[in-house]
Amino acid sequence: MKGTVYKSTGSWYRVKSEDGSFYDCRIKGRFRIEGIKSTNPVAVGDEVLFQVLGEGDETVGQIHEILPRRNYLVRKSVKLSKQVHMIAANVDLVFMLITLENPRTYPEFIDRFLATAEAYGVPCILLFNKVDTLSEHLRDETKYMAALYRDIGYTCIGISATTGKNVEQVVELMEGKTCMFAGHSGVGKSTLINRIAPGLELKTSETSEQHKQGQHTTTFAEMYDLPFGARIIDTPGIKGFGLVDMEKEEIGDYFPEFFALKPGCRFHNCLHLDEPGCAVKEALEEGKVALSRYRSYVQMVTGDDDTYRMGPKEG
Ligand code: GDP
Ligand code: ZN
Repeated sequence: MKGTVYKSTGSWYRVKSEDGSFYDCRIKGRFRIEGIKSTNPVAVGDEVLFQVLGEGDETVGQIHEILPRRNYLVRKSVKLSKQVHMIAANVDLVFMLITLENPRTYPEFIDRFLATAEAYGVPCILLFNKVDTLSEHLRDETKYMAALYRDIGYTCIGISATTGKNVEQVVELMEGKTCMFAGHSGVGKSTLINRIAPGLELKTSETSEQHKQGQHTTTFAEMYDLPFGARIIDTPGIKGFGLVDMEKEEIGDYFPEFFALKPGCRFHNCLHLDEPGCAVKEALEEGKVALSRYRSYVQMVTGDDDTYRMGPKEG
């Protein structure tokens, strides 16, 4: 039978078959993701082939094959630095919630997040939340930032999760897709999801409490069907897949406006740092590339922070 994984705990997996029944499955043998060790080789969102071992009270099965993934997200294991944890697979759309106040989301965080999403091959939309409470100054700053990211090609929407402003636009974008919501704790993820799908008890915001208590509980993603034909992947413990572990040379490729300029650089492997004849630095000086974007890029290229790691796009 063919099915989709809705929950993954590392030892068993909840799989929904094509006819809509759920099965608790274990894995047959060992699966390996090329090049990386994973604590849970099967992720929420994975499409799998499985065999039914029992029906009735105990609908159990055994997964014997993972179908090719369109993309997947991983995170480095907290305890075992050489291992990764699969967050989700086959994600159609990530909504990144941003607020400029309570809490303030900094450009470095946004850019790192976007670059990582680009590397994974996961489309990302920026939602500037809490527009109902913006001071004039912050309203201007929000407009400026939305324009900056729109110019690069990202869809940006100003919303209010509490008043419902523009939330119907978000719902429209979600239709038929498997979606994730990300952003710092306190930006309004739970409030927004509650408005979109009342009654879904997601764990999205539990992380902040756990962090306060200094606990590192292993949390597992879970997927939910929404009435209007979308699916939400709830990812407790994951605010973003912020920091990455990629080759220096590829980071610029995940800044779309840099990537577009790269053919104009004198050196084909230009890092856009101090090389002569760099088209990106030229555009920066002409104000065609945002300084905040360039700063984020330099930080990623020269920094050594590797708490998280990304998985390459498959296929
Ligand atoms: P999460 O941690 O990202 O899930 O954030 P929550 O949904 O728990 O929201 C954090 C706080 O921000 C709560 O007090 C919400 O009521 C508030 N909040 C969320 N969205 C909005 C909004 O659009 N406008 C205003 N004014 N407050 C909001
Ligand atoms: Zn360059």
